[in-house]
Amino acid sequence: MIDPSTATRVVFLGGLGRSGSTLLERLLGELPGVAPLGEVAHLWARGVLAGEPCGCGEPFPDCPFWRKVGERAFGGWTGSLAERMLTLRQRVDRTRRVLRIDHPDLAEYVQAYRRVYDAAAEVADARLVIDSSKHASLAHCLAADGSDLHVVQVVRDPRAVAHSWRRTVARPEDGRPMARWGSGRTALHWTAQNLALDLLARRGVQVTRVRYEDLLAAPRDTLASLAERLGLRTELSFITGTTAHLTTAHTASGNPMRFTVGRVELALDDTWRSGPRRLVAALTWPLRARYGYRGIAV
Ligand SMILES: [Zn+2]
Repeated sequence: MIDPSTATRVVFLGGLGRSGSTLLERLLGELPGVAPLGEVAHLWARGVLAGEPCGCGEPFPDCPFWRKVGERAFGGWTGSLAERMLTLRQRVDRTRRVLRIDHPDLAEYVQAYRRVYDAAAEVADARLVIDSSKHASLAHCLAADGSDLHVVQVVRDPRAVAHSWRRTVARPEDGRPMARWGSGRTALHWTAQNLALDLLARRGVQVTRVRYEDLLAAPRDTLASLAERLGLRTELSFITGTTAHLTTAHTASGNPMRFTVGRVELALDDTWRSGPRRLVAALTWPLRARYGYRGIAV
């Protein structure tokens, strides 16, 4: 088990993809003492094995930040370490396992994450690191090992999430299209991920829910109250009204917004309201209503 007095504080952003976790990570990452790491779950395959770019634009193996983190954590990144982590993930880190997360390989798997978090905090001179891996099963793995973990559950209206998953978006890393899902599949995953995150709270893990719509409607207020919950200084001078100014972040993987630097308008995209949405609305009820997203057709 981890000694909570010396452990790096980890904020884990959970929820289904396309719910705004990348934006929230980038905004939290501008607060003093915070190191945003991106989706650490994908670091092994996309960073170490495929050499995809860090959020700073450098290929992962050439990024000075990640190179130092790898040296401190493991004496350097290796293909065999990454392959081992992918094997362990198959065994222990699965949504269907969250009800019984215990496994003989769990400690080895979680320890590698702890080493990444600790080394990243040291290299960045940060008090807290953010992992925006999103998958609830990884949060369950980390929590089972006694990590100092605060989960921020990012939820967005599932009708908007489904709209986003239907769209064709090219990955900036290699130009290939990102995965596309139909409405039924999105509704199923949205429900599974959020129920699994709700379960974490019932297991005693600190879970704070943030609605993407609230973040965009009142960015400063929403961030200030979240920062307070996380014990961070509410230094929000990088936001003026609905405009944020983002600096470079060494995010290992994640959605295209991780590369954005400079001025960002925090505006809600309402285009989903003109598309099909009844199927998702029906499939995600009543969890959707519990998060405050009401109505079938609106
Ligand atoms: Zn970098």
